Amino acid sequence: MITPGQTIGILGGGQLGRMMALESKAMGYQIAVLEPVAGSPTAQVADIEIVGAYNDEEAVKQLAAVSDVVTFEFENVDANTATILQEAGKLPQGITLLKTTQHRLREKEALEEAGLTVAPYKAITSADELAAAIDVLGTPAVLKTCRGGYDGKGQYVIHSKEESDQAFQELYREGVELVVEGFVSFEKEISVIVTRNLKGELQTFPVAENIHEDNILKRTIVPARISVDAKKRAVQMAEAFAKSIELVGTLAVEMFYTTSGEIYVNELAPRPHNSGHYTMDSCNVSQFGQHVRAICDWPLVKPKLYHPVIMDNILGEHVEIAIKMIPEFTDAFLHLYGKSEARPGRKMGHLNITAPTVEEALERSLQLHIRTHTMEATQ
Ligand code: AMP
Repeated sequence: MITPGQTIGILGGGQLGRMMALESKAMGYQIAVLEPVAGSPTAQVADIEIVGAYNDEEAVKQLAAVSDVVTFEFENVDANTATILQEAGKLPQGITLLKTTQHRLREKEALEEAGLTVAPYKAITSADELAAAIDVLGTPAVLKTCRGGYDGKGQYVIHSKEESDQAFQELYREGVELVVEGFVSFEKEISVIVTRNLKGELQTFPVAENIHEDNILKRTIVPARISVDAKKRAVQMAEAFAKSIELVGTLAVEMFYTTSGEIYVNELAPRPHNSGHYTMDSCNVSQFGQHVRAICDWPLVKPKLYHPVIMDNILGEHVEIAIKMIPEFTDAFLHLYGKSEARPGRKMGHLNITAPTVEEALERSLQLHIRTHTMEATQ
């Protein structure tokens, strides 16, 4: 067990690292962080700041040396960095799941091996292969880079067969692997956050319903407005996968829920996730607290949702209005990440709005009007 007073090292200094650090500090731990830029959101609340690239061997060794355990806030951890931390005996989460989730094709194979359903897909290495795959999958289809994509980057939605060449030219580069997926015409996007500790105890947070805008998460609604049976299946899927890969730490499973009630897994994130921020003000344990428990080998808490909640992301263009609205926040909890530059589209914070029912929470979210645009599309 890693005991309070010892040091948790975090690779990455963004908001996820910051929220892990804040929970860890509340539990009595020291925090070290490695991030290329000084004064990062995590460094602002850490005890030890190491400024260096994520793949800088010396900096990584320094992080390992000052930490009793190391975790990460993003999945694209450099292979050499992960190996250094693993060999130093500081990475209880291991490197297998990192490797799997860094590559869309490997991720889909692992999901299928665990018996989960994913959209039909095909690995693509040439324009001809893509054209042939489109013949089978039909359109629309989504061409994606296997590595490095996030928030919709590295993706091309192919609307007609004629567009397939253009999509290939757009995404293909020497050494870039691609995968094409059939389009899932989903009714809702949902996600499940599951945590498992070294002893194999496993706990799952309530299913979240997610609304994206311009491929960035805009809003999370909990409880998700899907049937009890669908929620049960979504949780079972996340738990089955967590067991099959012997998860340690936190895993977010993003899924599509179709009108006919089918659930497809879209994507995995081996860490706390934006769609789990709702837990911070509506549950008996937050996703960050549960994560720290898992990597420090504490027992896990059985999550309980105290009340319905809406999580609204606050992007660069919303910060000013969010701060002006503070006097209205009697039932809303504002979290800001300490980022100095509020660029449009940049995740600056989030607002958790609680209410006795989901409908009231949604209504309240609309009244608070944090967002400067497109409030109506989400009902
Ligand atoms: P991803 O980066 O894979 O999570 O994709 C970003 C967003 O694109 C998802 O949240 C979906 O809204 C959409 N998307 C991606 N893949 C598919 C698919 N196969 N079918 C339908 N929508 C998709």
